[in-house]
Amino acid sequence: MPATARRLEGFTESVIRGMTRLANQHGALNLSQGFPDFDPPEALLAALERATRGPHHQYAVTWGAPRFRQALATKVNRCTGLSLDPDQHFVVTCGSTEAMMAAMMTACDPGDKVIVFSPFYENYAADAILSGAEPIFVPLRAPDFTYDPAELARAFEQKPKAIIVCNPSNPCGKVFTRAELMEIVGLAERHDAFVITDEPYEHIVYAPHAHVHVAALPGAFERTITCNSLSKTYSITGWRLGYVQAAPHIIQRARKVHDFLTVGAAAPLQEAAVAGLELPISYYQEMAAGYARKRALFSGLLAQTGLKYTEPQGAYYSLLDISPLGFKTDTEAAEWMVKEVGLAGVPGSSFFREPEHRYIRFHFAKKEETLLAAGEKLVRLARGR
Ligand code: GLN
Repeated sequence: MPATARRLEGFTESVIRGMTRLANQHGALNLSQGFPDFDPPEALLAALERATRGPHHQYAVTWGAPRFRQALATKVNRCTGLSLDPDQHFVVTCGSTEAMMAAMMTACDPGDKVIVFSPFYENYAADAILSGAEPIFVPLRAPDFTYDPAELARAFEQKPKAIIVCNPSNPCGKVFTRAELMEIVGLAERHDAFVITDEPYEHIVYAPHAHVHVAALPGAFERTITCNSLSKTYSITGWRLGYVQAAPHIIQRARKVHDFLTVGAAAPLQEAAVAGLELPISYYQEMAAGYARKRALFSGLLAQTGLKYTEPQGAYYSLLDISPLGFKTDTEAAEWMVKEVGLAGVPGSSFFREPEHRYIRFHFAKKEETLLAAGEKLVRLARGR
């Protein structure tokens, strides 16, 4: 039999998605893969019903339905202060997952190097391998997950083609400051690299931290490829709607990658999602306030375990330090939790370059009652085997 491609040997299937399957198999409460158990806004549900009866059942324009791109540009411009053109600056994709893959294939040739902070969202390593790029890892160090500027400068000395920034960061919850982002943009300018920024949690940020949109920083726009998604902002992770946002000459290239990968995102869902993009600014403020309440509740539950944990500055993930429980690896601990405690999290090692087996990542994008039920399991978990 012929062998399958060697490039697939360098990474495993997603541990996050694997944990969801394991949780389902054992009927465990699933705080592994980050997605809400509450409904999207009513306006979106009503628009989805209307969209099913409209003329939206065939292919949309490959880089995005015009009405969707118009609403998207208006929303992005209102939130970032940029003046983006719906016809020039966007490619609509199947989630930020495809946006990231398209960005990497647009920016990198095989053999190029890409800076990735560690811990990192697990897709980035696979994106690098699939696009033929080689990651240079720069650690973000606990407890506040800052990087060492000298280490970052040395990584840029290796002539990377791009740096990937996840802001707010999954899994460590870091929100990059304006000064850090300016430093990153400055280094990218000096070494002529792209900044690829993945921002699906842009609206889930906890005061006093604030989201800074890299593309809107002075001098950044021409070399920044922004990947984003509607999944988290409107609680529609299953709709698979995302986008690449960049300067027109980059977008023209990214459109080609996207066209041959997927042709396009689902037409009726693009039509329905316009209702989300048209929501008033108060929607985002209320959503952020709702997540701040969930973070406070979940941190309180984690505190009851007596174990150490991270409290995110943005996004909705906490890392629980399970090292005192005496498991050999975090994977062993995570499997035990699903089977014996009925609670699913993600082994932290899947996010780290370093051999780090201390953490289990949990997310708190869940109803209060779900989080309270998880709290009881967390207490059992802390008692160990
Ligand atoms: N971002 C989510 C997480 O980290 C999952 C996204 C996905 O599975 N596509 O859990």
